[in-house]
Amino acid sequence: MLGAPFGEEDFEREQAEIRVLKLLKNATCIKRIQDRQLEFVLLRYCVATVPMHLCRLMEPHIVAQGLHRHEVVVKEQLQRIAADAGQQIVLSPQDWAWAKLPVREGGLGLQDLPLISGAAYMAAMGAVARQASKVHHSTGSTAAQKVRAWFDDNNDRFERALAEVAEKVNGDATNPLCPSLPALESMPSQNTLSKPIYALRRKELLLETMTREDRAWKLSCGQFGAGSWLNCIPMLKRFICASSVFAVMLQIRLGLVLKSAELVTHCKCGTDATRSRAMQNGRHWMTVCKKAHRGLCHDAIRDVIHRLYRQELHVPSEVEVAGLFSQLKSDGQHRPADVLVPASASEGGVAQALDVVVTDPTSKSSLEKESSKVPLKAAAEAHKRKMQVYQRQLEAAGQARLPFIKVPLAFETTGAMGEETQKWWQSVLKLEWERNNDMGLSSRREMGIDHTWTANSFVSFWLQSISMAHARMQAESVMLWVGKCQPTVGYDHDEWRH
Ligand SMILES: [Zn+2]
Repeated sequence: MLGAPFGEEDFEREQAEIRVLKLLKNATCIKRIQDRQLEFVLLRYCVATVPMHLCRLMEPHIVAQGLHRHEVVVKEQLQRIAADAGQQIVLSPQDWAWAKLPVREGGLGLQDLPLISGAAYMAAMGAVARQASKVHHSTGSTAAQKVRAWFDDNNDRFERALAEVAEKVNGDATNPLCPSLPALESMPSQNTLSKPIYALRRKELLLETMTREDRAWKLSCGQFGAGSWLNCIPMLKRFICASSVFAVMLQIRLGLVLKSAELVTHCKCGTDATRSRAMQNGRHWMTVCKKAHRGLCHDAIRDVIHRLYRQELHVPSEVEVAGLFSQLKSDGQHRPADVLVPASASEGGVAQALDVVVTDPTSKSSLEKESSKVPLKAAAEAHKRKMQVYQRQLEAAGQARLPFIKVPLAFETTGAMGEETQKWWQSVLKLEWERNNDMGLSSRREMGIDHTWTANSFVSFWLQSISMAHARMQAESVMLWVGKCQPTVGYDHDEWRH
C-alpha cells in the first residue's frame, strides 16, 4: 500500500506527485461529515500526514512538488472548516504558516512537511544505516555492509543533504542533536530532529510585522496548556463542541478577524470598535468588556478543577467556600476560594484556597508590562495582584492567621497556564501519582475509565478537559456578544414603533 518510487530523478519526482494526488483523493470527501470538529480531527490526523512516508524515503527536492500539491489541499480544507456556513476565509501566508506549527509552538498541529521533509529523510536514513550495521556485525552479511558503505563512499549529495539538515537542526547549540556522517547510526528520531526546526520557525514568525496585540497573543498561544483542546477527540461529551463554535475557536486561536464580527461598530458597553481591533477578533469580550460573560469562562475552569479533585483524586474539595475569614466581620461576603482543597490533600498540611483568574495578554495593561515580549507575563501579573490582596488579608488577620493558604491559578485567555499555575499542576500530578500509583496502571483505557486515544493518561485527559471547557465557553460567549452587537440591518422595527 505504501512504498516509494525508485528510479531516475525525473521519474521519481513525477511518481511522487502522482502518489500524493492519489492519497488525497478522499480528502475532499471529509466535508460530507458536516461537523467541523470531526472534520478537523480527520484533517489533522489523517489528511495532513498522508505523504509522510514519501518524505522519509525520498530526498527533499524530489518530493517537494508533491508536497506542494498536498499543502494546497490541506489549506483549502482548513479554510473551509474554520469558516462558518456561508462565510469564506482566506488565510494569509503567515496565518497558514502558523497553522502548520505544532500546538506546543502555537499552531494547529497541521504539520509543515516542506519544512521538515529533510529531517524526516535523514531520520529514516539514520535508521537504515543503523539496521545495516547491526545486520553486518551480527551476520557478516556483505549486502548489509554495501548498504552501509553507500552513505560514505564518495556520496557528496548525501553528505550535502546531511549538512543542510544538521545546520537547521543544530543551529549554534552546544550539544548538536544531528550527528555528522561518521556517526550516522546515532541519528535521533524524526520527532526529535523536527522539534528545533519548528521552534526556530516560530521564532522567525514572531519577528514578522504584526500588531503588539497579535504578537502577545501568538506568544501566549505557544505556552504550556494553550490549545490543548486541539488534541481532543470528540468521543466524550466533555470534548465535544458544536460545529459553529469549533469554527470560531479555530479563528480565535489563529488570531483572525472573526468573520461574524466584521460589521460590528460598537459594543453594548459603549466601546467603539474603530479604536482597536479587539472587537473584530473577539478579544474585547474575553476579559475587557464589563458586560460580557467573563465569569462563565472562569467558572468553566473552576468546575473542571473541582471535578478533577473530587472524581479522580477522591479529595473532598469544595466550591466557592464562604466564611473562610471567620475573624472578619463581613465574612459571608468574602469568598477567597474558588476551590478549597482540604489540608489532608495539601503538601504543607494546610488547606489550599485555589483562586482561578483568567487574564488577557493583549490588554493595554498587559502590553504595558511587556506581554508581547515576555512569555506568560500577563499571568505573572495576575498572580502577583492576587497575592498582594492575600498579603493584606494576612496582615488583617494578625495573630489569628488564616485557616488556608492562597494559591492563585492564573490562566491567559489563550488557555496558557502561568508559571506559578504550572507549579500547582505539578503538585496535582504528584498527588495523583501518590494516590493512584498502587494500581500500577497509567492507561485510562486499561483502568476502564473515560478516555480517548489522545487522552489516555491523567495528564492529557485533564489538560484537555480544562482547555476545552475554557476555550469552548470563551468562543460561545464571544459569539453571543458578537450577535448582540450586530448593527441592525434594514428595517428597524423598534424605531418604527416610536
Ligand atoms: Zn463591550
